[in-house]
Amino acid sequence: MWLFDDRTVPEVRIPPPGPLAQDFLRRDARFASPSYTRIYPLVVARGSGCVIEDVDGNLFLDFTAGIAVTATGHCHPEVVAAIRDQAGKLLHMSGTDFYYEPQIALAQRLAEMSPGPSPKRVFFTNSGAEALEAALKLSRWHTQRSRVVAFFGAFHGRTYGAMSLSGSKIVHRRGFSPLVPDIHHVAYPREIAGDESGRELVRMFEETLFKRTAPPEEVAAIFIEPIQGESGYRVAPPGSLQALRRLCDKHGMPLVVDEVQSGMGRTGKLFAVEHWGVEPDIICSAKGIASGMPLGAIIARDTVMDWPPGSHASTYGGNPVSCRASLATLELLEKGYMQNATERGEQLRAGLRDLASRHEALAEVRGLGLMTAVDVVSEDGQPDPASRDAVVQDAFKRGLLLLGCGECGLRFCPPLCVKASEIETALRLLEAVFADRRLVASAKA
Ligand code: PLP
Repeated sequence: MWLFDDRTVPEVRIPPPGPLAQDFLRRDARFASPSYTRIYPLVVARGSGCVIEDVDGNLFLDFTAGIAVTATGHCHPEVVAAIRDQAGKLLHMSGTDFYYEPQIALAQRLAEMSPGPSPKRVFFTNSGAEALEAALKLSRWHTQRSRVVAFFGAFHGRTYGAMSLSGSKIVHRRGFSPLVPDIHHVAYPREIAGDESGRELVRMFEETLFKRTAPPEEVAAIFIEPIQGESGYRVAPPGSLQALRRLCDKHGMPLVVDEVQSGMGRTGKLFAVEHWGVEPDIICSAKGIASGMPLGAIIARDTVMDWPPGSHASTYGGNPVSCRASLATLELLEKGYMQNATERGEQLRAGLRDLASRHEALAEVRGLGLMTAVDVVSEDGQPDPASRDAVVQDAFKRGLLLLGCGECGLRFCPPLCVKASEIETALRLLEAVFADRRLVASAKA
C-alpha cells in the first residue's frame, strides 16, 4: 500500500546532505527566516507511511511525523484521495460567512467523538496556536474574567496569547514583551512529588495562588497539556486532572486542555485526557487532526461556547480540503490506528526499557501510546543535552529521524500507522548509536 514497501528502509546511499540537498540548503540559508530551528540537514522530497525520501534519494525511517502531525502516515492513500476529490469540487468559500458540508460534517464528528456526555460545539482554526488563542478568548468571554492559569513547562504556541500562556523556554518569550497580562504560571502537577491524589496540587491553588496573587473569582480558565510536549513528554500524574476538574467546578472556571500534540489518537485514545476520565470544558486540537493539512479546532461544551456572531472568526479556518482530510483521518483512527498506537507504543517502551537496562546513558522511559520519550543522561545521572543532540545527529546519519524534547529527552512520535517491524528497526538503529561509545564521549568532550 505504501510507496516504499518493496524497499529496504532506511537506505542512506549518499551521506546527507547530498549534492542536491546542499544546493537547497544554500538557498534556504540566504532567503529563509533565521528563526527556524532545523537540527539536521534533511531536505525532503517525498513521504509515504513512516518513510521519508530526501532529494538525493536516501530513505529515512520517520519517527517525528513532521512534529507529531502526519497521524495516518505520510500521504495515506485514503487521505490523499479525499483531498484530491475535494480539491476538484471546492477549495475555499470561508466557513465564517457561508456553509459547506465538510465543515459541518467534521464539526458534528468531533463534537460527537469528544470525551464526556455534554453536548459540544466546534470552532475551526488553521493551527495549534490559533486554537489556543480561540480558547483564551472564549474563556474570557464566557466567564467575563481576565486572569488565566497555565503551567511551567507548558508550550502552547508562538502567537501572543499562546506565547504568553507558554512557560517552557525563555527563547520563546525573550524580547517580545509586553505579553498578554494576567497570566499566572504554577508548577506542573508532575513537579509535586508523591501527589498521586492531586491534593497538594489543589492546596497550591487554594492556599497560595488564590490567596496571594490571583483571586479565583477573577480566573477565567486553567490551561493544561495532559502530557507536556515540548518540555519533555511529561505525563500528568494519575489523579491530577480529576483534581483540577473539581477545582474548576468549585470556582466556576473552565478547564482547557491543550491536546495539540497529545490528541487525535496519538496516545491510543482520541484525546489523552480520556486516560484520566475527565471531561474538559474546552479541548484545543491541531497537528494530527488532518494528517498534514493545516487545520486546528477548539471543541467546547455548548454551554461554554456562548460567544455572539462576529466575536470570533477565521477566513481559512475549517477549509473544505483540510476538513475532508480530517474526516478521512478520523475514519482511519477508528478503523485501527488508535489501537495500533497503543500496541506499538507498548512495544516501543518495552524496547527502550530493555535498551536503558544495557546503556546507562538512557533513563526514564515514559509516555502513552506513540507519545513516548527517554532521557539521555551523563554517567552521574544528570541531564546531558549535548549527548542527546549527538544521538539525534547520529540516528539521522543512520537513517532514523528523531527529535529532542525537554532538556535531554529523545522524542518518539512516529505516524500512528507505524508497523511492528519499523519499531524493531528504530530500536536496532538506536542500539547501534548507543553501542558506539565514542559518540557519547565526543559529545561530552
Ligand atoms: N500546543 C502544543 C501542545 C504544541 O505542541 C504546539 C506545537 O508544537 C502548539 C500548541 C502550537 O501549534 P502550532 O505550531 O500549530 O501553532
